[in-house]
Amino acid sequence: MSNNTHLDFVKFLIDNDNFLIVSHESPDGDNIGSSSGLYYVLKKLDKEVIHVIDDEIPQNLNFLIDYKILKSKDVDLKEYNIISLDCGDIKRINCDFKLIENKNKLLNIDHHASNNHFGDLNIVHVDKSSTCEVVYDILKEYENFKNEKLIDKKIARSLYTGLLTDTGNFMYSNTKQESFYMAGDLLKRGVDTSIIINTVFLSNPIGRITLIKDIIGTLDINKDFASILMTKNMLEKNNVDYKDTDGIVNYARDIENINVGVLFKEKEKNITKISLRSKSDKYNLNEIAKLFSGGGHVRAAGCTINENINDAKKIFFDKLKENKII
Ligand code: 5GP
Ligand code: MN
Repeated sequence: MSNNTHLDFVKFLIDNDNFLIVSHESPDGDNIGSSSGLYYVLKKLDKEVIHVIDDEIPQNLNFLIDYKILKSKDVDLKEYNIISLDCGDIKRINCDFKLIENKNKLLNIDHHASNNHFGDLNIVHVDKSSTCEVVYDILKEYENFKNEKLIDKKIARSLYTGLLTDTGNFMYSNTKQESFYMAGDLLKRGVDTSIIINTVFLSNPIGRITLIKDIIGTLDINKDFASILMTKNMLEKNNVDYKDTDGIVNYARDIENINVGVLFKEKEKNITKISLRSKSDKYNLNEIAKLFSGGGHVRAAGCTINENINDAKKIFFDKLKENKII
């Protein structure tokens, strides 16, 4: 699958005036970071730009947004180009599909191994830690091409946040030399790292901690897989929104002799969303997620099984056994 160059994208931004930024379902730090960062860039370039998310934004990422995010039903545009960020699959874009059908061009910026280059322009770099890092590379290309500064403090803050969340604070193997160069450059441009760290990672509402306690109570070890369950009942009891549960799967992963952490989330009675995280390359989680029509990366992937949470867990592990994975 062929990629466009960063310069192709830069020239497209310069030559076009109307953009619609779309996000994936359950937006995370990399998604909100890259999309808000690019939103601020386009505003700075005097473009017309709208950001649509039909889902909800995690509470700890709200600080990145100082503009109004619209719902699909409120968008009234005739001519526009769509920019999809951090979305490995066109089906995961979280907006009314009519908006996608009526676009001029679809631009696909991403770093997922499972991305099938669904855009008219594709900048997909699987070797990059985050979509924020891909966006940063594009903005650097713009700065070189135009010989002017573009990345200011606010844009840098958004990109730094996605870099942190997707690398697990520079802990995961997707962290490369370039990730540190990017971080250093963003710091030089004025990012206040302590505000980001405090807001995103060190300000858990107490309900999230008691929710984690309930979830950890369901811990189940199956060879080197550790699984945990999150029910709607637990969310209600602890007064936590589904959107604020990112990162909880890591508790299952971060156990001695465990390679894969699995979190089964009861989204609706018969819709179970599964998050997979690994700390080694023993299993390819993207391939495992694909068995259930999901996707992602080698060490972080997800999928959905349309069954109740207990049946979904059985179906999941039965399928792994059937495929001699476990
Ligand atoms: P999470 O567990 O945080 O929902 O997702 C982990 C990773 O897998 C993310 O990079 C996400 O984009 C990807 N992912 C999660 N669910 C799906 C899915 O249903 N389909 C695809 N293609 N990717 C998914
Ligand atoms: Mn990402």
